[in-house]
Amino acid sequence: MILNKIGNIIKQNNDFAIVSHLLPDGDAIGSTLGLYNFLNEIGKEVDAYNPDKLPLKFDFLPGFSDVKNTLIDKHYDCIFVLDCSDKERLGHLVELLNKADVVVNIDHHISNDLFADVNYVDTNAGAVGEIIYNLIRINGFEISQKTAMCLYTSIVTDTGGFKYSNTTSMTLNIAGDLINTGIDFPEINRILFDTLTVQQVKLLSKVTSTLELYKDNSIAVIYVTKDMLEECGANENDASEMVNYARDIDTVEVGVFIKEVEKGKYRVSLRSKNKIDVRMIAEKFNGGGHIRAAGCTVFGDLDEVKNKVLNEILNHWK
Ligand code: AMP
Ligand code: MN
Ligand code: MN
Repeated sequence: MILNKIGNIIKQNNDFAIVSHLLPDGDAIGSTLGLYNFLNEIGKEVDAYNPDKLPLKFDFLPGFSDVKNTLIDKHYDCIFVLDCSDKERLGHLVELLNKADVVVNIDHHISNDLFADVNYVDTNAGAVGEIIYNLIRINGFEISQKTAMCLYTSIVTDTGGFKYSNTTSMTLNIAGDLINTGIDFPEINRILFDTLTVQQVKLLSKVTSTLELYKDNSIAVIYVTKDMLEECGANENDASEMVNYARDIDTVEVGVFIKEVEKGKYRVSLRSKNKIDVRMIAEKFNGGGHIRAAGCTVFGDLDEVKNKVLNEILNHWK
């Protein structure tokens, strides 16, 4: 089985790198640091990378401050690419792929284009953290509390606190085993889901006041501009979960959150509840994701971006 093959790569080599997608979420960071702590603990040399700055909210995770943003001059035996559906999502760190003997791609996105030497894509996994858990266990290793904190974070964030349809009995069994290591999971949940900064609360009131509704209140669009962030003293990560306020409206099927990246360039997050496959919509703009959560980058001014995305949603309406 391929997880044994990847286990043998781990056992037979010494120098590893790990990288995940830009604009990292809890799964990107949690799976990276889970594998990072594990490899360190079994005595391997390992560097963890991400092309973007990690949101500070994850600074409680062991190894958080070790994550590098720029390449060091080193050749690796093996590099792991996690939660990343294609090379473009590595940003400037795509160069890493040329700095290793073997590239291993571990992911759960259906759109993964199998860019590596060894590819393991399990679309039934709620989070890449589940796959890293299985990789460690199937190869006969133990999971420390440090590793468990990271993998738990990966799984609990990508499943929206075990609430989304990507949650399976396997997800819950794995989470149960991680909790059995003695991690303080209520504290982790509090940090991840029940903590906002003053800046975020101020920003929330501005963002929710941009609400526009379409198609009998079944599509909700909210946005944030750089000016709004600045007025609240907030940074761009502070808005990362706000798409949920659009989705959570009782009548809404598709929630859209548009974030200004720079003039003429917007990052769009899409969420749906029951009917619409938002990945298909994101893919029209060269983005991707999952059936109920996807993202893409769209060019134009705010109104153009809004209209382009709305039209594409209406094209997919069932
Ligand atoms: P976001 O709206 O950025 O939170 O993304 C929602 C989901 O879609 C996450 O699983 C992302 O990893 C995935 N996703 C976002 N943007 C892309 C993209 N450009 N290509 C592939 N997957 C994406
Ligand atoms: Mn992700
Ligand atoms: Mn993921």
